[in-house]
Amino acid sequence: MDKIYCEGCGVEIQTEDKTKAGYVPASALKNDPIICQRCFRLKHYNEVQDVEYTDDDYLRMIHQISDTNSLVVKVVDIFDFNGSFINGLQRLTGNNSIILIGNKVDLLPKSTNQNKLIQWMKKTASEYGLKVQEVFLVSAAKGQGFDKVEAEIEVRRNGKDVYVVGCTNVGKSTFINQLINRSSGVKDAITTSYFPGTTLGFIQIPLDETTAMYDTPGVVNRRQLVHYVTDKDLKVITPKKEIKPKIYQLQNKQTLFFGGFARLDFEKGLKQSFVCYFSNLLLIHRTKLENADEFYEKHVGDLLQPPSPATLEQMPALVKQTVKIPNEKTDIVIPGLGWITVAEGGITVSIHVPKGVQISLRPALI
Ligand code: GDP
Repeated sequence: MDKIYCEGCGVEIQTEDKTKAGYVPASALKNDPIICQRCFRLKHYNEVQDVEYTDDDYLRMIHQISDTNSLVVKVVDIFDFNGSFINGLQRLTGNNSIILIGNKVDLLPKSTNQNKLIQWMKKTASEYGLKVQEVFLVSAAKGQGFDKVEAEIEVRRNGKDVYVVGCTNVGKSTFINQLINRSSGVKDAITTSYFPGTTLGFIQIPLDETTAMYDTPGVVNRRQLVHYVTDKDLKVITPKKEIKPKIYQLQNKQTLFFGGFARLDFEKGLKQSFVCYFSNLLLIHRTKLENADEFYEKHVGDLLQPPSPATLEQMPALVKQTVKIPNEKTDIVIPGLGWITVAEGGITVSIHVPKGVQISLRPALI
């Protein structure tokens, strides 16, 4: 069989192994266009199907960019910034300039200071060893911020190709679809296979006679919570609309549970308010610290849900990290879930999150 590539994501099509990337049933080979089962399910049922690409496969594919002379557009989810970083991206993309796109800005409360968010993203990117030329905030779903981004890409690419990279679920396809929609009026072009896959495993979208934008496969980052939760639970923890903050006045020795995914223990310090920015559907539960361990043991998977029992089976256990919050209004960021703003700071808290999820602190955005 000649090599065939999925017109949805560019992966090589195979008919042998359902659990591996690029699978289609043999009978589907006669379809035109051919899209792999994963893209098919994504398109028709909006399901994310896990297939076994090894991490090395992804990284090898991305590394091909280092041999090109191009502009790299890295898309991250602003609610999962640490989780949506690709380790070693600078090395993988060679000397090419990188611009960073923070997606899903429509979910932020209106009062968010976007400049502070951009500063934080720049700083964190540089801590990850990534030199970014510029950071832009957009909503790929709603088209917010695209006038600027489109113009910047055009100037910065300066006649070169563009490679769009990102971890799965950051909104990379939505971002590219939005760009295509704005220039051609075609909707959902990427997932509905308007463009051919290439031998590099990328999808090629012509920009003019000689240059193109390439969609690259979504890198699976094990730190992302999204890989451990069922689709149903993902719907609860992923904000769908602008976040409505929930405020708690806490004394020390009190605990907040965020569903059963995360927990904050107020260990030491003066009473103050904790403003919680999470999906409006995620239940927050307050209890006394002394009862919290027992409460979690007893109620995770029912009262503290999600995680549902199915997610619990695959999710890493919570691990505790104790942190001192500086004497200023500070956000405690839990990648993939949201953040908590501590009003005055100067306190000690313990945060419990699934092993692998990396929390961080930043000056409050609001
Ligand atoms: P990819 O895996 O990076 O290609 O991500 P997708 O484009 O498939 O998007 C992942 C999820 O994020 C989907 O549920 C999208 O509906 C959602 N999404 C993408 N862009 C946005 C956005 O700008 N705002 C919001 N609220 N959701 C978005």
